[in-house]
Amino acid sequence: MLEIHEKLYIGDVVEMRKQHPCGGWAWEVVRVGADIGLACCTCGRRVLLPRRKFARGAKKFVKRGNPAASE
Ligand SMILES: [Zn+2]
Repeated sequence: MLEIHEKLYIGDVVEMRKQHPCGGWAWEVVRVGADIGLACCTCGRRVLLPRRKFARGAKKFVKRGNPAASE
């Protein structure tokens, strides 16, 4: 679980606590805001999650994105 106020950047890769039906665990952050846009690193599917739900479902960062790309 991540902090709800954890700063997120485009390009962050997070491991989720639940496995995606495609078999993947890792998701890339493609949009930040009130809702967090995620793309599955395995199948490419995109979802939008409210920040609270994202923070609950995320386990840890696999990779950090570039802060400058998220402004
Ligand atoms: Zn997937």
